[in-house]
Amino acid sequence: MTAQYRQLQAVHDSQAVTDGDGVKIQRSVTRGRLQTFDPFLLLDEFRSDDAADYIGGFPEHPHRGFQTVTYMLEGRMRHRDHMGNEGVISAGGVQWMSAGRGVLHSEMPEQDQGLLHGFQLWINLPANEKMSEPNYQDFPADQIPVVSLANGATVKVIAGEFKHGAQRTRGAVVGVSTKPDYLDIHLPGQTSIDIEVEGDKTAVVYVYEGSVDIGGRSLDSQQMGQLGNGDRVQIQSSNAARFLLLAGQPLNEPIANWGPFVMNTQAQIEQAIEDYRHGRLV
Ligand code: MN
Repeated sequence: MTAQYRQLQAVHDSQAVTDGDGVKIQRSVTRGRLQTFDPFLLLDEFRSDDAADYIGGFPEHPHRGFQTVTYMLEGRMRHRDHMGNEGVISAGGVQWMSAGRGVLHSEMPEQDQGLLHGFQLWINLPANEKMSEPNYQDFPADQIPVVSLANGATVKVIAGEFKHGAQRTRGAVVGVSTKPDYLDIHLPGQTSIDIEVEGDKTAVVYVYEGSVDIGGRSLDSQQMGQLGNGDRVQIQSSNAARFLLLAGQPLNEPIANWGPFVMNTQAQIEQAIEDYRHGRLV
């Protein structure tokens, strides 16, 4: 069987936006493209060495109907929810939160020598899980597998599976119905990596340092590359590059979205707003 390589089908510049209490963010996967990136709903990168850009954080806010994945590279994020859960996501750590029927929480950045760098990804939940009980999977850096390849590339396997030769490395996060792959990949200069990505998945690459080449097309920092059909992708660097490879099974269900609520119908959105206003979200 011949591998079919996924090409770079579209390149989307991320947008500079402000969210929470004045946190500066580069946002990709935005409204209007939700079906294109199904099951992914949003990807935010926050990166600054100036605390004024983020210290306001994200004071208490609700979520319903999807998952938020927070991955920190520098600095920390302090998390507190309505159930009394409190924790800190430290550099290299991941928090995979399934909001289900409702979570009310705050996410407050804490600086480390002024530096803050991380990502938040939103992944949709299937219709039959939107009203499930909230749950968390938390992993500090040392519990997330890292694969070092002979060519100097490293692959951090946050979720899903990374296949290299006869070996398979399973990611830290398990049991998510959209079967997401979440890889953080570092390539030194003049290096190439060939990755299997299941053919039925939506797949994107987000570059956060340097630039890469996919099938002769270039993808720069803060750009989201949407991959076409295929079961593998080959990614090359000329200079050192860092990027996320995200893949997941599309839900192919209607999406109704209002702020922090992502449901299937407008009536469910109105219900969520109503529940939130009357303190019944959680
Ligand atoms: Mn949140």
